[in-house]
Amino acid sequence: AKRAGGGNYAVFASHMGGDAGAQLELQSDLRKALDREQFVLHYQPKIDGRTQRISGVEALVRWNHPERGMIGPISFIGLAERFGLIVRLGDWVIEEACRQMAAWQREGMPLRVAVNLSVLQLRESGLADRLADALRRHGVPASQLLCEITESVAMEDIGATRRTFEGLARIGVYLSIDDFGTGYSSLSQLRQLPARQLKIDRSFVQELETQEDARAVVEAVVRLAHALGLSVVAEGVETEAQRAILLAMGCDELQGFLFAKAMPAADVMRWSLDGGF
Ligand code: C2E
Ligand code: CA
Ligand code: CA
Ligand code: CA
Repeated sequence: AKRAGGGNYAVFASHMGGDAGAQLELQSDLRKALDREQFVLHYQPKIDGRTQRISGVEALVRWNHPERGMIGPISFIGLAERFGLIVRLGDWVIEEACRQMAAWQREGMPLRVAVNLSVLQLRESGLADRLADALRRHGVPASQLLCEITESVAMEDIGATRRTFEGLARIGVYLSIDDFGTGYSSLSQLRQLPARQLKIDRSFVQELETQEDARAVVEAVVRLAHALGLSVVAEGVETEAQRAILLAMGCDELQGFLFAKAMPAADVMRWSLDGGF
């Protein structure tokens, strides 16, 4: 499981002075953070391309550090993976997302929520059982939960991924392949996975207006996805022009700062009632 984690770790460690003591301190901070529930989920809306209304949200974890303030996931997910804490953190994310889904359901605004899964969660046995258990305890239908797995992770060991995906699909959870376009999967690999959605990586969206080849890639991905019966989401939409191009290409959902950044759960309801963007 070598991901961006190594690099992120280095960045954070140098922040902290880079010495072994600081790393140990962070590790114990992270452990304490789990015990003390210092994590919070923020939610970024996804917009339905046809209705232009909110179609769901993506849960993005933050660490509310008592001294350092709100820390983004780039700075600690890699550490949590390295320190063997990611499964516990991932379980917390699942639990909290289900709790929030139940709350929105009670308030009359059932929202589909996507959570991000780490490669180590994917490879740990019992993921489907724990997910099913959390959904059942909170009384949330499985079809309201979407799991996002990055393309590079999904394709790393296609056999293992397929077994896990099949287990998740069996309990009724939807699967999305995240950061699509960066992981070089083949058509035959894609066809082996019971995924429902492809999520086009922000790097392509960013270059849509200026790079002919990015435009060609996105167009091809939308067509490929639809041919395989998958829906397509574009992430990192920041401009009107990007939005117009993506909609013209038939992209099903859009997500990005043009519409909204990730926000606390309490703001999501207000945001969508106010008409969103
Ligand atoms: P991701 O899954 O690709 O999530 C999208 C990231 O892009 C989020 O950053 C989001 O805030 C940011 N973003 C959304 N729209 C825009 C935009 O228009 N422009 C720009 N520049 N950025 C945008 P965030 O919250 O810092 O998350 C970073 C990564 O951390 C996520 O990338 C995901 O891989 C990981 N992550 C977040 N939450 C979790 C989690 O609960 N578990 C695991 N395993 N990973 C997580
Ligand atoms: Ca994601
Ligand atoms: Ca993504
Ligand atoms: Ca991305």
